[in-house]
Amino acid sequence: MGGTGNCSGDPLVLAGGTILTMNADREVIADGAVCITGDRLRFVGPRAELPAAFTDAEAIDLTGRLVMPGLVNTHTHAPMSLFRGLADDLPLADWLGKHIFPAEAKFINPESVRLGTRLSLVEMLLSGTTTYADGYFHEDAVLLAAQELGMRGVFAQGVIDFPAPGVPDPERNVAAARRHLEQFASDGPQAPAVFAHSPYTCSAGTLVRAKALSREFGVLFFIHVAETEEEVSSTRENHDGLTPIRYLDSLELLGERTVLVHAIHVDEEEQDLIAARGAAVSICTESSMKLASGVAPLPGYLHRGVPAGLGTDGCASNNDLDMFLEMSQTARLHKLCTGDPSVLSARQVVELATRGGARALGLAHEIGSLEPGKLADVIAVRIDRPHAAPLYNPYSQLAYSASGADVDLVIVGGKVLVKERRLTNCDVAEVCRAANEIAVDIARLG
Ligand SMILES: [Zn+2]
Repeated sequence: MGGTGNCSGDPLVLAGGTILTMNADREVIADGAVCITGDRLRFVGPRAELPAAFTDAEAIDLTGRLVMPGLVNTHTHAPMSLFRGLADDLPLADWLGKHIFPAEAKFINPESVRLGTRLSLVEMLLSGTTTYADGYFHEDAVLLAAQELGMRGVFAQGVIDFPAPGVPDPERNVAAARRHLEQFASDGPQAPAVFAHSPYTCSAGTLVRAKALSREFGVLFFIHVAETEEEVSSTRENHDGLTPIRYLDSLELLGERTVLVHAIHVDEEEQDLIAARGAAVSICTESSMKLASGVAPLPGYLHRGVPAGLGTDGCASNNDLDMFLEMSQTARLHKLCTGDPSVLSARQVVELATRGGARALGLAHEIGSLEPGKLADVIAVRIDRPHAAPLYNPYSQLAYSASGADVDLVIVGGKVLVKERRLTNCDVAEVCRAANEIAVDIARLG
């Protein structure tokens, strides 16, 4: 096959391998074939039924691989990879207030945002993520870096009532988000959005204005909410006894196109409320475990049909962007916490990382499953290694024994971005070198 593959729009065939379509019937096809033209899937089925139009097309042999939809990471802050390992093993308030906010104030600018984002993009692509949702400052730089490397995503400009990188005057926070929405097309592969940091860092007025802005442009509205018990008690104190979810509901923020990030300390009535209003949830298991924030009622959300996806959160609180580990930890944590090993099956966590995430981001019509007509976001996962043998159940392998390092082919919108575990359009060593260089200065801050 050619160097970067299929950029010309010529047909491309992925032949052999076991296809996990993740379609409505969860069809699994042994010795399959996936045919791509331009940015779309044209055929997904048994190799023996390959349409004649594709018999002479460029082909990639995927024998010994699982072929599946690219993974969807519903929440991260890509530039924060520059703070990976800077401050670990601390409570959320200390971690944020004493380490992360000061480091951001000093080091975050468009250039460092671009560098941190490139580091995250490289890590995400090499571990099979093809779509992700970002929330940060200088979000235009994040979006442009993703555009350059070909990563699909939703890029939400941060809104917070404190001086922030790129927005020194908090009075201008919603105006900065408006500029971001005006700058980029909302229906492209890199769509803009709005990210209100949290109910405790944004006033009611800011939250209402930020949501109104996202409604006006028809884009997603993200918010960290109900992350810690401390947040619940302070919200109750400051807002007439209302819990964070009830407080957001009182501001009419729980409707469709809202993505509630973390949503951990949420009772059954509040889960009903979220389901009734139409908001989605992004569950960041590893980040919540590391910060000891709590366990989200994910089985309750799924039971109620709430659109739900998995997110890694930023690298400063995880500390990686590998969605395979997110699947594995999510399944295991809920079994441990409920004392019920049947809770959150292997298939369910794979669903959360593919079609579930796509639905949570309002992209289910385009991505999240391998079906003709959908966008060609495809990954191949090696199953010819010792930790993947023998293969009884592909979902089990993905959820419990695979890792991002098993991904060796990544295609986004028909373009081959990773081939044989090498990025086709980026010098990984150079990205790591630049990150290590800036880290010397960041470390001095302590
Ligand atoms: Zn976050």
